Amino acid sequence: MATPERAIVQRGEWSDLKDGNLSLAARMSDDVVRLLIRQRINDGRLPRHRVIEVGYGSGVGRECDACGGPIEPDQRITVRICTEDWRTIRLHDDCFQIWDVERSLVERDAGAW
Ligand SMILES: [Zn+2]
Repeated sequence: MATPERAIVQRGEWSDLKDGNLSLAARMSDDVVRLLIRQRINDGRLPRHRVIEVGYGSGVGRECDACGGPIEPDQRITVRICTEDWRTIRLHDDCFQIWDVERSLVERDAGAW
């Protein structure tokens, strides 16, 4: 996802901001994606279980199944097959990493019940 923070970097306007503010901003936007992904795992739009890796590539501006934002040509896309229902999902590589953490938490919670 093209975050506001990245847009700032591209325009070279970072320098006015203190490091603490920057990392806070980055963390907040990461948290938004994390919440979105958690919600999609809960409502079934994203799988809860392990997926099969199909491949990596560059985006083509199509929607990410995790965050809903476009995966641009300068961003890395990962394509996976869900073992549950055999559908294919396409995610930003970053979103995949977040999903992988979130789904392992969901699995662990489910096991604890
Ligand atoms: Zn994404």
